[in-house]
Order: sequence, then structure tokens, then C-alpha cells
Amino acid sequence: MVNYLSVDLESWASPNLPEFVNLPSKKKKALDKGHIKKSALAILEILKKSNIKITFFVVGQLYEWYPEVVEKIATDGHEIAYHTHAHDVLEDKTTLVRSINLSKKFLQRYKPIGFRAPRIYMDTSHLHVLKKYGFKYDSSTYGPFSEKRKIDGVYEFPVSAIGKIPIGSGYFIGLLGKNVNLLYRTVNKKNVPVISFIHNWQVVRAHKPTFPTTLHIITHPYYLPYLTDCFRSFEYLLKKLSIAPMKNLLK
Ligand SMILES: [Zn+2]
Repeated sequence: MVNYLSVDLESWASPNLPEFVNLPSKKKKALDKGHIKKSALAILEILKKSNIKITFFVVGQLYEWYPEVVEKIATDGHEIAYHTHAHDVLEDKTTLVRSINLSKKFLQRYKPIGFRAPRIYMDTSHLHVLKKYGFKYDSSTYGPFSEKRKIDGVYEFPVSAIGKIPIGSGYFIGLLGKNVNLLYRTVNKKNVPVISFIHNWQVVRAHKPTFPTTLHIITHPYYLPYLTDCFRSFEYLLKKLSIAPMKNLLK
């Protein structure tokens, strides 16, 4: 059974610091302190050793920061998909269109066909916008897998869930570590592939202040699994699973 474990490539600060979203690009890059580059290269190294090709959902802005890193992902043979321009939370259609327009250079260079919304948060009524910009599949929902579900000309490949439990999220790799594979196997037993993801900042931990901040943990204790160092779990999943890039689902 082939499964689809992907990496969402973004700054460790994107989901953590509310003020981060509105900072100018240069300040964001400075705040990230090279963690994007360090983590991406480490992930590429493990993938090379494991001889596995996956999908990277890349924040378009990173192509301005580290074009050589995004280029290396592509030349190493991985699929480059899109994760908005600046990890924009898609409250409405306008935000999506604005984001796409800001990523023109990135989109022209890699012509991604896959899309994932930050926080797995997007109204499927916006899928016609993705279609317009050449995307063929979307993975911005949680739910059961279906090969044929197409909305407005775009295939919907939800991140795996068992009932309401989003077992395919990076959160669950943080929460359960290697044991997450037991849940994946439950899904596979029904002859269904698992679609899951992990963040680069889970595989390689960020510099201090670490993600999430102490204050964050106190106010949002459910964030704790994001403190876990997932390097070994990621390695383990690469060893245990047969993994392919998500574009293969279209074959
Ligand atoms: Zn993200």
C-alpha cells in the first residue's frame, strides 16, 4: 500500500507568532535565522538516504529567501506543491487570489499542481480559483480518502482522519511519535492510503526561543505535542511506509 507523507515547508514562526503574518518579508527572514534552510537540507538528506520522493508544500515566499533550497528540492526529484505565499490564513477568496499573485515567480518556475491551505483551513467553494491558476489537486481538508472526488475541476485529497480525528496531521506525529504508524495501519487495512504531513520545524527543532513559546503552552496546552522532536519518528515512518509524492494520486 502506497502512502503519501508530505512536508509542509514554512518558517517555525508562521503558525506560532500572530504578529509574524504582518511583518515585512526581510524581518520574517531575519526572525527565522536560517532555520528553513537548515531543516529543509536535513530533510532532503534523510530522503536521499531512504531513496524516497515526496511532496513538499512550500510557502512561496521562501523562493525569495532561499531560491537555492527550493531549487534543490526540485532537482532532488521531489514534487513542489504550494502552501500560499506567506502562510496566509485563507479567510476569504480575496486572500487566496492576493497570495497567488504575490507568488508569481515561484509559480511560474515550478508550476505546482498541488495546494494545501495553512491550518488546513479553506472553503472548498474557492477551488475554482485554484483551477484557474493551474492546480489539479487540493489537500486542505480532513476526511476519508476518495480517488474520484472532484470539485470545480480540482481533485480533493483530504488529509487522513478516522471519524473526526485528524490522524494524518503533523500534530499526531508529535503526539504519538512512531506509534502513529499503528493508526496509519488501521487505515491501510481497509485498503485506503494514508495522506499525512509533518512540518519541517517538527523534524528539525527551531533555535531558541523554541516553538511554541512557554506562554503559548500555558494558554494552549494542546500545543504540547508540537514541542516533540520528531526527527526519529520521521525516519521511522520513512523506513516503515511505502511513500510516493501526491501527484501520483492523479495517475
Ligand atoms: Zn503550514
